[in-house]
Amino acid sequence: MTPDLGQGAGCGLEDAAALAALLRPGPDGDVDVVGVLERYSHLRAPKAARLLRASRFMGRVAQRQWK
Ligand SMILES: Cc1cc2nc3c(=O)[nH]c(=O)nc-3n(C[C@H](O)[C@H](O)[C@H](O)COP(=O)(O)OP(=O)(O)OC[C@H]3O[C@@H](n4cnc5c(N)ncnc54)[C@H](O)[C@@H]3O)c2cc1C
Repeated sequence: MTPDLGQGAGCGLEDAAALAALLRPGPDGDVDVVGVLERYSHLRAPKAARLLRASRFMGRVAQRQWK
């Protein structure tokens, strides 16, 4: 994530909270790590990718050499 939107740190904190919430043991006491990671990607990847694209775009605009 580029720094151009100031959203990366907040997104990282949301990612951590989402992962912690998903990493709960099932009724048998085990954690389905593969399933958790799949659900985590499904939940978080679209927003993270949207912010990443927007911050990259803002960086291009801000660093453009206007002639
Ligand atoms: C120059 C710059 C300035 C920025 N300024 C801002 C700002 O002002 N505000 C803002 O909100 N965001 C800013 N960002 C974006 C923000 O820093 C990132 O979006 C955020 O740090 C991502 O957090 P993360 O925990 O997902 O990943 P990271 O911060 O990249 O942390 C990942 C960690 O995992 C470690 N790691 C990687 N692979 C392994 C491995 N195999 N085993 C063990 N450890 C591993 C890495 O060493 C690293 O410590 C900036 C980014 C850059 C590059």
